[in-house]
Amino acid sequence: MQELVYLNGWVGSFDNAHISINDRGYNFGDGIYEVVRTYDGKMFAVDDHLKRLETSAAVLEIGLPWDKKQLNAIISDLLEQSEIREAIIYIQITRGTAHRNHLYDPDIRPNLLITIRSTPDISQSTYIQGVNIISCPEFRWQMCHVKSTSLAAAVMAKNKAHRAGAAEAVFVMDDGIVTECTSSNIFIYKGGTLMTHPANNRILAGITRKHILNLAEDMGMHIRPEPFKFEDMIGADEVFLTGSTSEVIPVVDIDGQIIAGGKPGPITGKLHQAFISLRS
Ligand code: PLP
Repeated sequence: MQELVYLNGWVGSFDNAHISINDRGYNFGDGIYEVVRTYDGKMFAVDDHLKRLETSAAVLEIGLPWDKKQLNAIISDLLEQSEIREAIIYIQITRGTAHRNHLYDPDIRPNLLITIRSTPDISQSTYIQGVNIISCPEFRWQMCHVKSTSLAAAVMAKNKAHRAGAAEAVFVMDDGIVTECTSSNIFIYKGGTLMTHPANNRILAGITRKHILNLAEDMGMHIRPEPFKFEDMIGADEVFLTGSTSEVIPVVDIDGQIIAGGKPGPITGKLHQAFISLRS
């Protein structure tokens, strides 16, 4: 009996299994997984698990080169080799390996990892006596202020933008509030006032954003770091994006609606020039 790893066709021990630092699961959390239990060497509800795996892949638009039958065969073979009868099978598929970029090549080949381990012991007293739990606010997906590597949603939105011939995707909440973009902050300028979403859990407080706000203040501009709505953005005199890689980028079109006559505005240019002068 031995715990085993399958990685893209290779089979061996946990200690000898390696994956590239460019795996998109590692860089972006751009992957999916399933956990299947065996009882006396037989997988429980494996069809349900593989179906859910396919659904997860479809939602993240990960094209699976294996169908359920092929995956089942690979897993069964590994299970047999391990000779573990009471096993936990972990199946992980990431979008694949490529230099870090939110945009992915549609032909990228996913990485398939399967591990077989013995089922952890859960004492009978757990079932007889029950357990304590704690309550916790539902905060999943509400930590945009953390520069976390859980970027699957940002990856999806960025690729959607790319397919639409756009440079970025701006996130708009149900109530119409504009937060930020997949990898940049967004500003609007209207009638002498500069606005950007306040730095709370809804956005990443960009370093470039902070410097732009300081520069705008130095220039005597009226600044309002407050939430604004989609229609405010569409009706703005100027809209621009900020980020460490991109600096300050003017936006001239949102969903096909022309902003500021379709040309970069003077305030955006002035702030970009001022930002450039910070570099020296
Ligand atoms: N917002 C998000 C979601 C980002 O990922 C980034 C940068 O990667 C930014 C904003 C801009 O932040 P910064 O100006 O620090 O690069």
